[in-house]
Amino acid sequence: MSLFVRTIVKKRDGGTLSEGEIADFVAGVTSGAITDEQAAALLMAICCRGMSTAETAALTFAMMRSGDTWDLTRHGFVADKHSTGGVGDKATLVLAPLLASLGVKAGMMSGRGLGHTGGTLDKLEAIPGFRTALPKPDFDRLLETVGCALIGQTDSIAPADRRLYALRDVTGTVESIPLITASILSKKLATGAHAVVFDVKTGNGAFMADPADARTLGSALVETTRATGRKATGYITAMDRPLGRAVGNANEVEESILMLRGEGPADLRENTLLLGADLLLAAGVETSAKDARRRLNAALSDGRALETFARLIAAQHGDASVCDDPKRLPQPVAHRAVPAPAAGVVARIATREVGMLAIELGCGRSKKDDVVDPASGFRIEKKPGDAVSSGEPLLVVELGPSAKPNATFYDRLAACFEIAPAGTKVETLPFVVGTL
Ligand code: URA
Repeated sequence: MSLFVRTIVKKRDGGTLSEGEIADFVAGVTSGAITDEQAAALLMAICCRGMSTAETAALTFAMMRSGDTWDLTRHGFVADKHSTGGVGDKATLVLAPLLASLGVKAGMMSGRGLGHTGGTLDKLEAIPGFRTALPKPDFDRLLETVGCALIGQTDSIAPADRRLYALRDVTGTVESIPLITASILSKKLATGAHAVVFDVKTGNGAFMADPADARTLGSALVETTRATGRKATGYITAMDRPLGRAVGNANEVEESILMLRGEGPADLRENTLLLGADLLLAAGVETSAKDARRRLNAALSDGRALETFARLIAAQHGDASVCDDPKRLPQPVAHRAVPAPAAGVVARIATREVGMLAIELGCGRSKKDDVVDPASGFRIEKKPGDAVSSGEPLLVVELGPSAKPNATFYDRLAACFEIAPAGTKVETLPFVVGTL
């Protein structure tokens, strides 16, 4: 039996892998010495048997070291955030320039849409000319000149994750907390931020729909990050309804611009203040969450945050005039309201399905090579707990030039909204479900 087969068998039988066995696995994945079949077998064994905290940390660090690890010490303190994603989650677009406007550097490497969730890169690329495929020297330049940078994953960051993620995608091994933890953190830690705040979404629009799973994942993310000597905090927040009103790409940029002007929706503001306050505390800029929130609110209201976003857009080759005139973003060619079939109260939104329908409309990709239509999206008019009269819009569909919803699209969208008789008590998650 080869050494690596012994590792597979050990995990298959419920054993605990040593740091060396895990390091050999990741080295073999990176070099190609381990075949897809063998790697997939170990992934399945991990998925079924789980991993201890120490094994998860060893896997994370080995995957992180499979590629470049960035040293950001020359920038002083650099903050980062990670959200596990959901529907309408545009927090990165607001948070990075907001922090930079207060002198806290924010360097973030973001991803594209995954499953039913939107991707920060796709949203940013709705801004005409905006470039996210920038190398490390540009990341450094942006941190020096603007104080924040929003870029996509480079090929040299955590290459082991790229191979393992592709294998997990086709072997039913995505939903494993140790594998998700190592995948997220290998990339996050490789980019060298000094403090990370984690936003683990839960509810029917989140990957971790069950709050207990969200807590397990969140604790693993926070504890493993702290084990590297970095500061880490986190929250479990509600994703049983979309965040804000805009779901899409250009419309989410527009809503972020409104927020950066101090005018955005209350839940997006709360999300921004919650995460932003932790990073101001981690940076040592403030010593109490109350003062940190006051400082963040001031930068949203007095134009500093929006001015920084305009500078970031220009530095990443985009059209910064969208900040003054968001109508310069790609615009829908038509709108269609989805009316409430009856009067009552919105009892529930099937948030994951709303996300899937947004992808179907062209806001994301069903296949790797699909082209995103930046102008398409939804504007959510009613959220759980809102009263609605018969025929009143539940949401408005914004149709971009290439949107071609099929005959059942609008009915399927309407079915995502459950309407209960007026006066029904509606149970929703509190915005902050837990602290990690
Ligand atoms: N995001 C990642 O980067 N990896 C996962 O496994 C899940 C979400």
